[in-house]
Amino acid sequence: MSDCIFCKIASGETPANILYEDDAVVAFADINPQSPEHILVIPRKHVENVAALSPDDAELVGRMVAAANKLAEDRGVAADGYRLVFNVGRHGGQAVDHLHLHLLGGRQLGWPPG
Ligand code: AMP
Ligand code: ZN
Repeated sequence: MSDCIFCKIASGETPANILYEDDAVVAFADINPQSPEHILVIPRKHVENVAALSPDDAELVGRMVAAANKLAEDRGVAADGYRLVFNVGRHGGQAVDHLHLHLLGGRQLGWPPG
């Protein structure tokens, strides 16, 4: 998608603080962090959100979660715990319509979310 900000980050057209990348996923620091560690993990291919995934994407989602878990370890928040979040649609708080997994850590997070 030519006008999608996360496609542009994945392709390198738009700069971001890239923390991990491989053939399937890219992870970068959230520009407006909500916790000391706030990282977004995205697929390179454009998918609107988890609701738009097909059964063929099961491995891709697994790759995203594995990358997030690895980043949590590498950035030192795994021991104390962290949160992985997919926002879906407007009521879910989704602002960018390219699938992304939030990794939030580094402080005590509240529950329920606001
Ligand atoms: P969501 O509300 O789930 O769609 O989350 C979108 C997230 O993308 C927000 O946390 C934004 O701060 C973040 N974001 C938007 N544009 C950028 C960007 N250019 N680089 C890094 N993070 C971004
Ligand atoms: Zn996209």
